Amino acid sequence: MSKAAQINWSDPHLINADLHCHSTTSDGTLTPEELAERAAANGVQIWSLTDHDEVGGLARASKAAAEHGMIFIPGVEISVTWSAVTLHIVGLNVDYVNSPLENGLVSVRNGRTERAMEMSRQLERVGIDGVYEGALKFVGNPNLISRTHFARCLVERGVCKDIREVFERFLTPGKPGYVPHEWASLKQAVQWILDSNGQAVIAHPGRYDLNPMQMDELVTQFVKLGGEGIEVVTGSHTTDQYATYARKSVRSGLKASRGSDFHGPTESRVNLGELPRLPDGCVPIWDNWGKLFS
Ligand code: AMP
Ligand code: MN
Ligand code: MN
Ligand code: MN
Repeated sequence: MSKAAQINWSDPHLINADLHCHSTTSDGTLTPEELAERAAANGVQIWSLTDHDEVGGLARASKAAAEHGMIFIPGVEISVTWSAVTLHIVGLNVDYVNSPLENGLVSVRNGRTERAMEMSRQLERVGIDGVYEGALKFVGNPNLISRTHFARCLVERGVCKDIREVFERFLTPGKPGYVPHEWASLKQAVQWILDSNGQAVIAHPGRYDLNPMQMDELVTQFVKLGGEGIEVVTGSHTTDQYATYARKSVRSGLKASRGSDFHGPTESRVNLGELPRLPDGCVPIWDNWGKLFS
C-alpha cells in the first residue's frame, strides 16, 4: 500500500505532522537517520527536516523517511533580519537540488564563521577563552556554526548548567558574546522558497521581540510577499500562544503549521511528533497535500 493510502486525508487535523526539526546538519544532535527513526517511532506520518540555512541533510532524511513509511516534506529554516529583529522563515515542500533556494542559502551561511570568531573574542574579554575552538567540537557541518554550538561548549566547560542559562547570560542582545548579524531579507527568503516551488511559513511567531503592531505588520508584509503559513503549535509556544496564533492564522488567512522544533533528546522540551493537535478552526498547511502524494 502506498504511503498516501495509509493516511486518511478526510480530516487533516487528525494527521500527525511534525514540520520543524533540526539534525547534525545544523544545530541538532541527531543525524537525519536517527531523527527519522525517532519520528516514526512517535507516530509521525508527515515529517519535515528544517535545518537552519542548509538543505544538505534532506537527501538522507528523505531516504530514511521512506524506509520508515513516512511522507517526507523537504524543508529549511531561513534566518532573516526584519526591522532589526532576527526572524525565522520555514520553507516546506522546497526543491533543494540546484534550486534558487540552495543558491540563496550560500550567502546566508557565509559570515557565520566570522561571526563565531567575533563571538569568541567577546567571550575572551569576559574571561572565557577558546570558545570558538570548543564550539567546533560540536559542529556537524563546518558551514554552519551557530550559537547553539557555543552554548553546548559553555555547558560542557561548566560555565553554565544548561543551554537555557547560556542564552540568559550570554549570546543574546546586550550580553557578552552577542554579535548582531545581517541575515537574509524577508523578501529574499520568501522569494527563494517560492522560486523553489515551496510554501513559506513564519516560524514560532511567539518568540519574537515584536509588539502587536509590528507583528501585524510582519504578517501583512509576509502575506503580500506570497507567504502561506504560520506556526501555531510549536515546541516554542506556550498553550496560551497556541490559541493566540490560531486566531492570527484564521484572521490573516495564513494556514497553520505544527512542528516540535526538536533539537535533541536532552535539549528539547517537546519530542518529535508529541504535540497537541492544531486548534479547531485553523486550516492545516498540509490540508491539500493529499493530492501531492496520491
Ligand atoms: P544562530 O542561528 O546561530 O543565531 O542560533 C540560533 C539558535 O540558537 C536557535 O535556532 C536555537 O536553536 C538556539 N537558541 C536561541 N535562543 C535560545 C534560547 N533562549 N534557548 C535555547 N536555545 C536558543
Ligand atoms: Mn536551532
Ligand atoms: Mn527557529
Ligand atoms: Mn528551528
